[in-house]
Amino acid sequence: METRVLVSACLCGRACRFDGGDKKTPDLLDALQREGVEIVAFCPEEEGGLGTPRPAAVIEGGDGEDVLDGNARVVTRDGGRDVTDAYLEGARRAAERAAQSGCKVAYLKERSPSCGCALVHTSTGLVRGCGVTTAMLRRAGVAPVSVA
Ligand code: SF4
Repeated sequence: METRVLVSACLCGRACRFDGGDKKTPDLLDALQREGVEIVAFCPEEEGGLGTPRPAAVIEGGDGEDVLDGNARVVTRDGGRDVTDAYLEGARRAAERAAQSGCKVAYLKERSPSCGCALVHTSTGLVRGCGVTTAMLRRAGVAPVSVA
């Protein structure tokens, strides 16, 4: 078992979601604590410079992998403002934090345009794919674990 893991901060109870809420997941936190794992809580959207609360955003033209490859972008759901740079910055910082902390596994909030692992909100609805941070972490050798 890993000794230190990255965890989406909202799952840890931090009120960092776009709507100012959190997604605290006591079962996950209890399980990690029982195993003696140290949690590194991280919110890529806040670290990328987006405040809380912030407009909900979706990926347009693909998923997080496509954003990293320059073939898709992230836009706000209301009005389509391009926020791709902030999402990329948050993803880069997540990979840096994982490397600095020695995290090889990341527990990530499903469906988020940053943290989604198997499903992600896009301009055409919820589709199979991953978020921008998840894609970046995967490329950095960090294994994502989906938390619904
Ligand atoms: S970016 Fe990730 S950590 Fe931050 S609120 Fe969204 S799902 Fe949670």
